Amino acid sequence: MQKKIVIIGSGFSSLAASCHLSKAGHDVTIFEKNTTAGGRARQLKRDGFTFDMGPSWYWMPDIFDTFFADFGKKTSDYYSLNKLDPAYKIFFSDDIITIGDSMEKICAEFERIEPGSAKHLKKFIGKAQKNYDIAINKIVLRPGLSPLELITPETAMRVDQFFKTISGQVRMKFKNPKLISTLEFPVLFLGAKPSDTPSFYSFMNFADFGLGTWHPKGGMYLIIVAMQQLAQSLGVRIHTERPVEKILVKDKKAIGIEVSGEKIYADIVLSGADYHHSETLLDPEYRQYSEAYWSGRTFAPSSLLFYIGFDKKLKNVEHHNLFFDTDFERHAQEIYDNPQWPKNPLFYANFPSVTDDEMAPQGCEAGFFLIPIAPGLSDTPELRSKYFELIMDRFQTLTAQDARNNIIFKESFCVNDFIEQYNSYNGNAYGLANTLTQTAFLRPKLKSSKVKQLYFTGQLTVPGPGVPPALISGKLVADLILKHI
Ligand SMILES: Cc1cc2nc3c(=O)[nH]c(=O)nc-3n(C[C@H](O)[C@H](O)[C@H](O)COP(=O)(O)OP(=O)(O)OC[C@H]3O[C@@H](n4cnc5c(N)ncnc54)[C@H](O)[C@@H]3O)c2cc1C
Repeated sequence: MQKKIVIIGSGFSSLAASCHLSKAGHDVTIFEKNTTAGGRARQLKRDGFTFDMGPSWYWMPDIFDTFFADFGKKTSDYYSLNKLDPAYKIFFSDDIITIGDSMEKICAEFERIEPGSAKHLKKFIGKAQKNYDIAINKIVLRPGLSPLELITPETAMRVDQFFKTISGQVRMKFKNPKLISTLEFPVLFLGAKPSDTPSFYSFMNFADFGLGTWHPKGGMYLIIVAMQQLAQSLGVRIHTERPVEKILVKDKKAIGIEVSGEKIYADIVLSGADYHHSETLLDPEYRQYSEAYWSGRTFAPSSLLFYIGFDKKLKNVEHHNLFFDTDFERHAQEIYDNPQWPKNPLFYANFPSVTDDEMAPQGCEAGFFLIPIAPGLSDTPELRSKYFELIMDRFQTLTAQDARNNIIFKESFCVNDFIEQYNSYNGNAYGLANTLTQTAFLRPKLKSSKVKQLYFTGQLTVPGPGVPPALISGKLVADLILKHI
């Protein structure tokens, strides 16, 4: 029988869930607080420049293919993908590592830095590929209801990899600190320090070196546009500028939501907004997790972001650039162990207009700069300016050019914006980290244990942070809902 389902938020997870639920024949409506759909993946357009405000790395193309294939579609029905070569470049204080689009190119670069390292790399990536197959085809598709989900013949054989860390594993075979940082970089997407991330997660290294880095022409936002089109073609209604103020509960059952004082009744309520915020929409007795629970979790970092229009083409930069010319360990401690504004942060800079002329006017460059910081830090205009100057100095020196005088405009985004625009807990940028104690069944649950007919999805529940996991989270919750109705 057709059920009425309301969804809070329009991020990747909500849009994915809406498509699956609508395809199954249900009446689905999304309520989004912001003016456009997409959540953290919104787009900023200014003076002919286009910026993806959040995600910029298109990794794990197979997950996107699978999502669209579930609806008889292909990614190419909506956007065209370009495999980046080089995938990215890492600036160190005394060298630059370039990651090409094939294992041959990457092995040659490793040999240049540390002779003999290519054979270790091939073995490491071979093992990472097996972990990828197990993680993506078996574990990640389970809803995190029980520890037994993690036990498969394949994981039983690799149980040690859940108790060793990626950091330890990398250091066993690679000695050069630059190669170590290069191999530790992909797990930063999981939101925790490599020294707190189980070595099983080396599957992220296969995603990086094995599957490559892609770019949808026009930007990552085109995936949101595609999913929106797909959802609407399946009958989903998407309402923007409709912040949900309350989840209505009667007899311990979710019966709808309240938006601008209007009660909207439904059979099922699903929230893809940040889990902590979603629970604050409930009266306290219906919340499953206390404030103490949330404050004791390891969150993925927040970020200080700058979106900049440059009036010239920049030299010596690629589409993706990492600036690892400072101490990785110290910055990680300032994010996780002793939260404070970093003394000398690593940063990331993205210039999509290097490979995609739709992203900036002719002869100009669109620049996105990101400094990862601890969630919950004080966020003031003075601090934003101080860090802008600091990274701009380093950027100019490391890329050997003047760029500051070519800025047409600059916009920033930080902790206060994450809170104000997404109702993000402490201004986290990308959810709850994936550590050993916050993996799978140890994460906040997809289904409320206190309120019937109430479900959650997104980067704070299973499987975790990132766009591909958000697509999977939407499918997992839709499957769970369909099983229960
Ligand atoms: C700066 C940045 C860079 C990133 N880089 C990458 C990357 O390169 N690659 C990658 O794979 N991932 C990246 N990520 C992570 C990725 O963007 C997220 O994991 C993913 O987009 C999360 O999707 P979601 O559906 O869980 O939630 P969200 O995108 O947060 O969606 C939640 C939605 O709920 C809405 N909402 C909140 N409260 C309410 C309310 N009361 N009523 C109605 N609506 C509400 C919000 O406005 C938002 O639209 C990045 C994230 C950030 C912030």
